[in-house]
Amino acid sequence: MTYDCKFLKLHKKIPLIENELKIYKCLLGNALLKEKDLDEKWACKGCKVKDFNDKICINLIPQKEFIKRGVSETFFICTLMNVIFKEPEEFCLLNCKYREI
Ligand code: SF4
Ligand code: SF4
Repeated sequence: MTYDCKFLKLHKKIPLIENELKIYKCLLGNALLKEKDLDEKWACKGCKVKDFNDKICINLIPQKEFIKRGVSETFFICTLMNVIFKEPEEFCLLNCKYREI
C-alpha cells in the first residue's frame, strides 16, 4: 500500500512478465523503496513524518536517514530553538507558545 506523504514519489515502473515492479523514492531520506517495503516499520508504515506533514508548526523540519536496508532514523528539528525531537507532538502541541502553523 502507498501512503499519503509529500516525500513519497513513484520512481520507476519495471515491466515483468506477469505484472510490474514499482519502485518508490523517499525524497526526504533519499532512498529507493520497493512497494512491499512501504509497509515495513522501518520505512513508511512506522514513519511519523507522514502523520505530521507540516501540520504541527512551520518551524518543525522532518529528517529521515536510512542507515542501511531495514534500519532508519526519524527525527525533527525545531529551527527556531535549534532542538531535536524524536517525538515532537507532545511538546509542540501542548507546551510551546512559539508554535506557528
Ligand atoms: S519513509 Fe516517511 S518520509 Fe519517507 S516517504 Fe515514507 S512516510 Fe514519507
Ligand atoms: S518547539 Fe515550538 S517553535 Fe519549535 S517546532 Fe515545536 S511548536 Fe514549533
